[in-house]
Amino acid sequence: MTAELRYANVTEFWYRFAGKEIPRQLDLLYDWFPVFTVAEDESDGETKIPPYFDEALCVIHAVRYHGRLYSGADEIIAQLCGRLIGSAKGNREKQRKNAVLMQKRIVRYFSQHYDAIEFLINHTAARMCELEDDALNELLDALLDYTVDLAKAREEMSDTEKDGEPFPMDDEIFDTVVYNAAYQLNLCTFEGLARGYFWLLLGGLLRNEAGRLTRRFDSSFIEVNRMPSEEESLLSKLDYLFNPEDYEYVFSGDDFSQRFPDIIWKCDRCGDTLNEQTGFDDHLEYWQCRRCGWINPLSVEYIHDSAEDAMNGRGACAEDKFSDAIERRKKELEEQ
Ligand SMILES: [Zn+2]
Repeated sequence: MTAELRYANVTEFWYRFAGKEIPRQLDLLYDWFPVFTVAEDESDGETKIPPYFDEALCVIHAVRYHGRLYSGADEIIAQLCGRLIGSAKGNREKQRKNAVLMQKRIVRYFSQHYDAIEFLINHTAARMCELEDDALNELLDALLDYTVDLAKAREEMSDTEKDGEPFPMDDEIFDTVVYNAAYQLNLCTFEGLARGYFWLLLGGLLRNEAGRLTRRFDSSFIEVNRMPSEEESLLSKLDYLFNPEDYEYVFSGDDFSQRFPDIIWKCDRCGDTLNEQTGFDDHLEYWQCRRCGWINPLSVEYIHDSAEDAMNGRGACAEDKFSDAIERRKKELEEQ
């Protein structure tokens, strides 16, 4: 089956490894996005009160009946849920529009309340705590594969097919969501797993609207167009992310008066660009930041592809590969 970035597909992973049955529509929305998609009204738990869509607030209201959110046979709610989850393919224009309004409302709320994202990431992390260690590892592996499958499926789609999806996504937004999820998952930490999973849930639920939130992730946001790889495609960027050892370094600068040509050094404490500070010389072993006084070591193992890599202590430059790239570039210039 072709991988799709749909809320239902993303949630399916967790229930599979938790060995639990996938909840039905309203419960499934509530499980990962409580309050923001479905508001639980008070009830005695024994009375069937039909759910309704609050058009003004763009939230579905429901009550619990024998432990589950009661969905009755309300077709409007069923259609609306189906759109958000990704299971409804029918042509109910009104409910598609309502689903879009819900997506937009959620995004607007998140962009005004950053703590809501933190709350949901913590909520996702708490759900991860329900899994045994083995299941967590298996989930992580499955999700890493899923990001690659998503990239492959996307690459095979024509523009017309992409535009014809129930909630079309721009390539840039799709790539950003999937790449950042993959990056977080690839950290192979508990936090990375929770954040990566949340990226996927959010992308699946909000689709293109998720693009307006990517910057709100701060430390976990990476601009995909800046990520190194041999090609532009998401698939090749993921390949570089997962298998950096397969790649040689390429150096294209020509300023060999420096020890680390073209490398921009940032202060580890204040982030100031050290290269621009008066008297900076990268032949020194250390450089004391002129702005904050922090002593920054200048050596090859502190060179990273991106600020995120530096922050996460990942993908440090290998000395032999680095000097090899410099040597090759020198020869290239000599031959010109
Ligand atoms: Zn500094």
